[in-house]
Amino acid sequence: MAGIAWADVPTADEVGVEMHELMRRLYPICRSISGDGVRETLRIVSGIVPLDVSEVPTGTQVFDWTVPREWNVRDAWIADASGERIVDFRRCNLHVLGYSTPIRAQMRLDELREHLFADPARPDVVPFRTSYYSENWGFCLSQRQLDALADAEYEVVVDSSLTDGSITYAEAYVPGASDDEVLLSTYCCHPSLANDNLSGIVLLAVLGKYLSGMALRLSYRILFSPGSIGPITWLARNEHRLGRITHGLVASCVGDPAPITYKRSRRGTAEIDRAVENVLRHAGDPYHVVDFVPLGGDERQFCSPGIDLPVGALSRSPADTFPQYHSSADDLDFVEPRWLGHSLGVYLRVLDVIETNDVYVNLNPKCEPQLGKRGLYRSIGGGSFEEAPLLWVLNLSDGTQSLLDISDRSGLSFAAIRDAATALEAHGLLQQREGSAGVVPAVTVTS
Ligand code: ZN
Repeated sequence: MAGIAWADVPTADEVGVEMHELMRRLYPICRSISGDGVRETLRIVSGIVPLDVSEVPTGTQVFDWTVPREWNVRDAWIADASGERIVDFRRCNLHVLGYSTPIRAQMRLDELREHLFADPARPDVVPFRTSYYSENWGFCLSQRQLDALADAEYEVVVDSSLTDGSITYAEAYVPGASDDEVLLSTYCCHPSLANDNLSGIVLLAVLGKYLSGMALRLSYRILFSPGSIGPITWLARNEHRLGRITHGLVASCVGDPAPITYKRSRRGTAEIDRAVENVLRHAGDPYHVVDFVPLGGDERQFCSPGIDLPVGALSRSPADTFPQYHSSADDLDFVEPRWLGHSLGVYLRVLDVIETNDVYVNLNPKCEPQLGKRGLYRSIGGGSFEEAPLLWVLNLSDGTQSLLDISDRSGLSFAAIRDAATALEAHGLLQQREGSAGVVPAVTVTS
């Protein structure tokens, strides 16, 4: 029983700083659902964890969708009569409407106005807007700036291209002893936005880096792909091998100060759902667990009825529930290293559970074994083991119940139950059920 090699992982604070530094490198890049910004992002991530990059050509049919044309933008601005750039893509890449078609024109404010996007509810921020699947051009700016624009003539330039090309996704594969795979997925299609997007990328990149050095039982497939079209494309191309995926998590918005929120898989009681809830219940921090709904992020694709993988979504603030969402306020100051590090720790604790959730058989099931003579019982003066986990493990280890079942039913932490099982096994009182490693137990016990 190996599990996560905690000695190989820096403290939450240290790893949080490492994640934030990576985020700082990725932040200026203009990403979209296709194009060179995604490629550059994946190139930088591949310096943290090796990636296998795939390009899927424009026009490829993926289930009910068609891979769109590739978009790239070099520059974009609105200049006033003096030639001064009053809205400048180089200052903030959110200023250009995502997938904006090229334009180069002079026009009056009246004409320009229908291509300007602001958010009256948040008058000081530049909103993030896209027009992926209907052709348009435009600029995003703060409501305050929009209101102050003079009724004059402006030079309007979007130096972009929308051409046949490809979309890009990448996978990191961390092999374990078993072919069973844990799918960890995030999207990589937002421009300079920190929590809603970059936090998921840096968490999975750094998680992949540390997992790569460990002796693991399960194999890990870490997917970085553009939102929606990425998972749809990946699922269409990997449909024949989805049976290998025994657990999965979608990572997003993991760097803000809010408590952890876990959104269950469509199945609701998959082992991953129970592992996450068990970890959160014993971590001592506030958290929320919500049932699956067919809204939200890429879990919509992984949990569509014809796919139905055991994939939940583990975030802090769920997307679109925090005031900075999809705006220039979701920046490097909003996301803090300590929250990134804390989130990574939660992911590792969940993986530690699914790595070691074994089923055991009590080899001395007729009445309790005499623990005292084996040095396992807390005698006067204090032994090294708590009594309760030992008795729970001995009683429920009848070959049908996993350590997670026993933890849930007893209310004791998974770590305490696992330590008890390790001690009992070492004393010849317990044996792993043959073939139980990594097997989802048949019996489900709810707490
Ligand atoms: Zn978003």
